[in-house]
Amino acid sequence: MIKKLFILSVLFFSFSILKAQNITIVNNGKSDYCIVVPAKASTYEMTAAKLLQEYIQKISKCELPIVTDKNQSKKQEILIGLTNRTKDNIIKNKKKTLKEDGYYLFTNEEKLLILGGSGKGIIYGVTGFLEDYLHCRRYSQTYEFIPAKGTITIPMIDDTQIPPADIRIVHCEFTKDSTYEYFRKLVEIKDIWNDGAYHGYFVHTLQRIIPSDKYFKTHPEYFSVVNGVRVPWGQYCLSNPEVLKVAIAHMKEQITKHPNIKYWSVSQNDNYYSCECDNCKAIDLEEGSPSGLMIRFVNEIAKAFPDKVITTLAYQYTRKPPLKTKPLDNVMITLCTIELNRSKPIETDTSSAGFCKEIIDWGKLTKKIMLWDYETEFSSSFGPFPLYNTLQPNIQFFTKNNVMAHFQQCNGKHSENFGELKCYLLSKLLWNPYADVDIIINDFMNGFYGDAAMYLRQYFDMLHSECKKADIHLDIYGNPVWLAQNILSDINMIKYNQLFDKAEKAVASNPEVLGRVKAARLPIMFSAMEIAKSDLFGPRGWYREVNGKYVKKPEMNKMLEDFYALCKHDSIQALNEKGLTPEFYYNSTLRTIDVQVEGNLAFKKKVLCYPQPDPKYYGMGPQLLTNGVRGNEDYKINWLGWEDLDASIVVDMDSITTMNEVSISTLHLPDVWIIHPTSVVCLVSDDNINYKFVDDLKPDADLKYKTDIHNFTFNLKNTKAKYIKFNLTSVKKLPLWHAYKGSKAWIFVDEITVK
Ligand SMILES: [Zn+2]
Repeated sequence: MIKKLFILSVLFFSFSILKAQNITIVNNGKSDYCIVVPAKASTYEMTAAKLLQEYIQKISKCELPIVTDKNQSKKQEILIGLTNRTKDNIIKNKKKTLKEDGYYLFTNEEKLLILGGSGKGIIYGVTGFLEDYLHCRRYSQTYEFIPAKGTITIPMIDDTQIPPADIRIVHCEFTKDSTYEYFRKLVEIKDIWNDGAYHGYFVHTLQRIIPSDKYFKTHPEYFSVVNGVRVPWGQYCLSNPEVLKVAIAHMKEQITKHPNIKYWSVSQNDNYYSCECDNCKAIDLEEGSPSGLMIRFVNEIAKAFPDKVITTLAYQYTRKPPLKTKPLDNVMITLCTIELNRSKPIETDTSSAGFCKEIIDWGKLTKKIMLWDYETEFSSSFGPFPLYNTLQPNIQFFTKNNVMAHFQQCNGKHSENFGELKCYLLSKLLWNPYADVDIIINDFMNGFYGDAAMYLRQYFDMLHSECKKADIHLDIYGNPVWLAQNILSDINMIKYNQLFDKAEKAVASNPEVLGRVKAARLPIMFSAMEIAKSDLFGPRGWYREVNGKYVKKPEMNKMLEDFYALCKHDSIQALNEKGLTPEFYYNSTLRTIDVQVEGNLAFKKKVLCYPQPDPKYYGMGPQLLTNGVRGNEDYKINWLGWEDLDASIVVDMDSITTMNEVSISTLHLPDVWIIHPTSVVCLVSDDNINYKFVDDLKPDADLKYKTDIHNFTFNLKNTKAKYIKFNLTSVKKLPLWHAYKGSKAWIFVDEITVK
């Protein structure tokens, strides 16, 4: 029997080689084919069969029946999974090599076999077949391209595909659609870490495993020593064996209740406060990093649950790998790229050298790394974010260093910086890091933007070449105003708008595609408005001087109205990660542009700063302080910042001026390490040499985490002077109540007014 099978298998393969011909599955809307599933087909096999049936019907209007392998075999069959038609051991063994998500497409005689791994591979086999051989495309959750044709012919196929990463998550709203998810071959967090309505253990889980409100009172010794005392808000005393016992007992209870979940996170809380007790410190020293103690702890949990994968973070204080302890085979390390520059590939960017060393070193210790990467601008999702050139080299670099799970936080949304393209391309690269990016982008542009594709591609390429030329740090907490002198310079914005004008004209007769092109333009509109708001009366501002008076530019007002209308039309929910709604943005923009400059004697007067503000928060430079616009809670616009420094600011009033009142504003936003100055001293002078003291004012001392804008107002009582000086004293280091106490603090300063 074994011998016979072997001969059969040789024949099976030789036929396919000799008979290199096409197979016609549907001919002029008619077909003799059926889709065959195993008699005991799995849910995934049935999903795959139905998906194939649905799409063949969409292409050709011909519905192929789905039958089980109990039906009599015939020549024209598409086999889903291992049916009783497959007797060949080589094929049967092939299945084992496909891991969970891989697939194998193979034609023999007139049969097509679609074989999948132990997971969703069979579904991906169908979507891979539909994309690669029948040219179907699923570009977004709502738009797909299906070639309509009555006859479906395929070549002889022998195609094995196995992705290098087991877990491929592109975190975005599109994957909520299951068909999109199948075509993109992606999973969501819930597919891996949850069990139906039960939310499993995904990240920062130790607080859930050993809750401080349950244990701190009775067992303070379970918790971190910080500055000599045990605290409930830090991490855990992981060298204490009792902590391990509590953790194992807790995990056992959860894992027993939810045996289907394979991945469980045991990971540090989201703070820096690891334990400073003698035992923990000794292990930290021995391991060269607090990660050693963390891995020793997690390894013990992994030993207790050998059939599970225990995931943990190498993050903040644990990012440096240990010198001695290796993670066990069923431990997965999660690394994060949050602070890295997005304008250059990580591997070749000198500013990312520290991270590179850490991932390479972790890669030497374990074959199980999960990479939490970021491809979105959190603080300003609607500014252009030209990072596409980095996606492929980064994914290749991660793959080379044993990354087997990806969490790509691109937060892709409709209209957001080619959001659909970003998810599409990322999914293709996670499946095959060596895919041809140019072909993928062109295919997407042509399919999604139709006749406008050429212009959209030019805009896309220009954004990236300008980004390369500018050699900037592209921050996920950035702002379009920061790019106003390079990528979004006046001349570049004119060119971008010309391309969009041409693009809109090219698809003017197709409302659906026109809508997509208009959506792609939103980041340029958003940027133009942000730049205009940052310097309302400047050359790119919202106002224009007409006969000595400032009037709002009608084209800017129209842009705001158009932007808001497009956002409403496209049901856009938020313009940044914190949920800034288009409605809120619209109204706050109206407030910002409604300024009163009359009566402000400081308006447009020359300002000098000593030292210069930090380049990161420099905006339009010192003149920002007398541009007539007050900053608001958005610290990136209309504020100047100094890190770890005092600042001195001088306003030159041009001539001796009678003044009653002067004021200067500062911002207090502790979440981003901005703290009010401890004091602001005001002085006046006629010659900028000899100064007269006016007053020394202090802000409210008890603000702590409360956001605040403080106007320091000085009463001058008809003082005559030409120069006004403000000396601001910074706290320099974050105060004791702050979670990051001792780190460098900022002072932020805005509008100076004189009456
Ligand atoms: Zn300790």
